[in-house]
Amino acid sequence: MSLADVLDRAAAGGRLSFDEGVRLYREAPLHALGAAAHARRMAMYPTNDVTYVVDTTINYTNVCNVHCTFCAFFRPEHHAEGYTMSHDKVLERVKYAADQGATQIMIQGGVNPELRIGWFEELFRRVAAEYPDVDIHSLSVSEISGLATIEGMTTRAVLERLKAAGMKSLPGAGAEILVERVRKRISARKIVPDAWIDVMRDAQQLGMPTTATMMFGSIETDDERIAHMKVIRDLQDESEGFTAFIPWYYVPYKTPLRGREATGLEYLRVLAVSRLFLDNVPHLQASWLTPGLKLGQLALFYGCDDMGGTIIEEQVVHDAGGGNEATRAQLEEIIRGAGFTPVIRDTYWNLRNDLALATA
Ligand code: SF4
Repeated sequence: MSLADVLDRAAAGGRLSFDEGVRLYREAPLHALGAAAHARRMAMYPTNDVTYVVDTTINYTNVCNVHCTFCAFFRPEHHAEGYTMSHDKVLERVKYAADQGATQIMIQGGVNPELRIGWFEELFRRVAAEYPDVDIHSLSVSEISGLATIEGMTTRAVLERLKAAGMKSLPGAGAEILVERVRKRISARKIVPDAWIDVMRDAQQLGMPTTATMMFGSIETDDERIAHMKVIRDLQDESEGFTAFIPWYYVPYKTPLRGREATGLEYLRVLAVSRLFLDNVPHLQASWLTPGLKLGQLALFYGCDDMGGTIIEEQVVHDAGGGNEATRAQLEEIIRGAGFTPVIRDTYWNLRNDLALATA
């Protein structure tokens, strides 16, 4: 089959094989690839809307016993620069975000063995009681798995307890590339790909919406990028539990692993192939945090229908030597500048026109 035929089939919603995904990623001309992804996105969402969520990330601890080589954020236990926020401090940050209209908070950090499950339950109960309109879209598979080890519980039991305390959904962080060879090199102490899938499946079976991420650009090959997408697509076939796919690229500057930063064109190719390959994942997010707002704007023509969050605070990417910031007004301007209409959503993709900016 010619490349043009494969692109046409994918743009019409046809399923790509693994080999076709790799072929498109490697060989398809960039503009043709983008056009096919954009056609697919417009067929899925014929309105001119581009969604975003008002949210924040609160990195409550940088103490971590996993020691990923791509991470400049963590500090080992007992390190002088290690920190853990008090509950009051986290609540202060939640208030700051809520005052700016946030409907979603991502409380995420390292795998700190000193924090037991009761610490999280108490925190989530307080957040849920004091800010009932804010969704606790928090932690990661790594933190859930770490808690299970510390407590001697199953990851499912950990999720059940946290859900009862107010946690609403599980972000896809900690996936990186779900291929054994890559994880052994960049996050050897992290759970293996199958265990990541099991925790996600647990969360989805408990009725928690989840997202899936991909951190690309460290040491993986083109084939391994598509293999990661295949893992997500296979689980989605079974569960339909992922709301969105969020590819973002590795920021190397202050990490032990170092290496290079992915190019803008690589980013756009990954987005476009993601939209075409992940035919069963509803939304594709432009993660403007690492590539910046201008490339994030271009992403809207490479398959993305969502601009992610306002991310009022964030530390992990900033510590690695990257990261961008944006106000709600700036995000909306970027969306409008691309010819789309900005629309606020919540964690579950309910549209929240009641929260629209006064100038919108
Ligand atoms: S990426 Fe997460 S799990 Fe890995 S070292 Fe950093 S904080 Fe720890």
